[in-house]
Amino acid sequence: MRNLQGRLDLCSINTATLGHREPISLTIDRIARAGFGGIAPWRREIEGADVAQIARQIKALGLSVSGYCRSTALPAATAAEFNANIEANRAALRDAATLGAQCFVIVTGGLPAQSRDLLGARSQVVEGMAMLLDTARDCGVPLAIEPLHPMYAADRAVVNTLAQALDICRAVDAENTGYLGVAIDAYHCWWDPALAAAIETAGRENRILAFHVCDWLRDTRDMLLDRGMMGDGVIDLPSLRRSVESAGYDGHVEVEIFSAQDWWQRDPDQVLATCAERLQSHC
Ligand code: ZN
Repeated sequence: MRNLQGRLDLCSINTATLGHREPISLTIDRIARAGFGGIAPWRREIEGADVAQIARQIKALGLSVSGYCRSTALPAATAAEFNANIEANRAALRDAATLGAQCFVIVTGGLPAQSRDLLGARSQVVEGMAMLLDTARDCGVPLAIEPLHPMYAADRAVVNTLAQALDICRAVDAENTGYLGVAIDAYHCWWDPALAAAIETAGRENRILAFHVCDWLRDTRDMLLDRGMMGDGVIDLPSLRRSVESAGYDGHVEVEIFSAQDWWQRDPDQVLATCAERLQSHC
């Protein structure tokens, strides 16, 4: 496993960690000034802005883009809506290319409104990924399917384990062209008894495109917005990182913390300083 001491260049900050409270240009400056090597911006910060200018700023400050967040949900109630979702993702992929993103993060989407058809939603995901793969190749930006914790199966993602995400990769991209893989997020995957085996498989199949860290608080108060800072919860992050890196992953360790009541209330530079310290001491 890599030693992260003094190696913030190996670490990245997902901009959600700062709560999207400031303009992206300021966020980019803060992350670069704090010494990190990477940034993962969100579409809400990029779309409607001068994407090329943002890309130039990121590059000028020496940051890599460890990922671009994130896809429009795929499953839809109607064919027209499904096609609109595909087109929205194609547009986002073009922005990801402009940014030089190392991957486009796919959060697949949950059940369409009023639907109880979980299998149908999952098959729409497979169909949608197949449609997006060509665009990803054209743009030179790989798609990283991020399985989400099963508590989000209804409203955010019907892909809930790493093994399931890998099955989709194989179904859609059997020849493994390098444009379809997975994002492993500690928050979503830590509980999975099959995780170690799935990480090994993902590595062997060369599919690990991103690694996200935060912590799971034992007394979690909110399903979405109460992620913990690394070291404050129950996840054995060093063991997890060892598994991911032993499987061959050598990309950024990306911090991604949604924390409405805690970290998003704090001074952004203090949050970044704490991330830096915990990455080196608890990951
Ligand atoms: Zn994530």
